[in-house]
Amino acid sequence: MTAPALAERIAGVVRRAAGGKEGPIPLHEPCFAGSEWNFVRECLDSGWVSSVGSFVDRFERALEDFTGAPHAVAVVNGTAALHLCLLLAGVEPGDEVLIPALSFVATANAVAYCGAVPHFVDSEISTLGVDPVKLARYLEEIALPSPGGCRNRMSGRPIRALVPMHTFGHPADLQGLSELCGRFGLALVEDAAESLGSRYRGAHTGTFGLLGAVSFNGNKIVTTGGGGAILTGDEALARRARHLSTTAKLPHRWAFRHDAVGFNYRLPNLNAALGVAQMEELPAFLSAKRRLAAYYREEFATLAGASFFAAPEGCQSNYWLNALLLAPELAGLRDRLLDELNDRGIMARPAWEPLHRLPPYLDAPRMELSTAEGLADRIINIPSSPALGLALERSTPVNHGEQGEQP
Ligand SMILES: *Cc1c(COP(=O)(O)O)cnc(C)c1O
Repeated sequence: MTAPALAERIAGVVRRAAGGKEGPIPLHEPCFAGSEWNFVRECLDSGWVSSVGSFVDRFERALEDFTGAPHAVAVVNGTAALHLCLLLAGVEPGDEVLIPALSFVATANAVAYCGAVPHFVDSEISTLGVDPVKLARYLEEIALPSPGGCRNRMSGRPIRALVPMHTFGHPADLQGLSELCGRFGLALVEDAAESLGSRYRGAHTGTFGLLGAVSFNGNKIVTTGGGGAILTGDEALARRARHLSTTAKLPHRWAFRHDAVGFNYRLPNLNAALGVAQMEELPAFLSAKRRLAAYYREEFATLAGASFFAAPEGCQSNYWLNALLLAPELAGLRDRLLDELNDRGIMARPAWEPLHRLPPYLDAPRMELSTAEGLADRIINIPSSPALGLALERSTPVNHGEQGEQP
């Protein structure tokens, strides 16, 4: 299989999903087909465009209803959400936090913002998320029990938390990871930035851990332009999140008093107005994205040299970004294939450069990372916009019983 032949085959499948449309097909474009204009206009007319206003409350209630999280706190972006989650989980300067090497840089940066040290862990092929079995074996070797938790016997630093990430929307093995956190006394904080709409054994991702972070960046499944949210079942933590995200200001009619070093992290009402409209469309986006994934899965079933990545058993994925996994012997063709696809107007990209290879994190502690490195060499993401799935639903309606569950 040559790169041009593989690219030709993949490009044909993607273009058919787009109804044969010519011109570039983006990786993931937002869809504003509902009440976006009305709500944004209503927000402007109200004069309340900043961090106070009814759309912020409505957006938070919509997130709580949809995810089942008892509390959602809207903030300026997913990175800020992760930063606050880690602070609220008790991460302190000099602590270590376990995070996957195969993730977006924000996961590591949020740890660094706390003055803590990211400690990179490996992923598993079945979920693309943190491998609980391999991590348990590693911690048995390097972790020393200490009161209320554990310590890294090499560095002497406390290992405070584990931050699994649900890669491209596919849930990590939350059961295995929760058990591991219990056993080693780690706080579980989920990076659910990519997984709004994804469920693990029926429960929404981001609601298993002490806290979870979601993102509403422009390329995520729903967007507020920029935005994020903290999910938690703990009322005191939610209250603290709200306080810290609004400069830790004590409520008063006119006095400006602050009782901690807070952050200006609250989501503006203007962005929340967009978010309320997008949340109304989320069920339709999810169904469209699962339809697109089912189409890709079927079309690529006979593809030689690459396989379509399907959600792990027992999970419902939002299929935020669809991924093809190149056969190991074709990993060397990846960059050529990406060029060939982009030349054909198909916006494809690799996964992230593994975080332990980035300049700010070259010296960070890590376990053996061969699976994450192998995956990073072999993954390519292909166009995944809701619009593609909506076009498919219009052109080839499927029976509703099949839809959604099982791409
Ligand atoms: C998008 C994303 C974030 C951060 O979200 P922003 O809203 O862009 O700050 C964090 N982690 C992962 C894995 C992401 O994909």
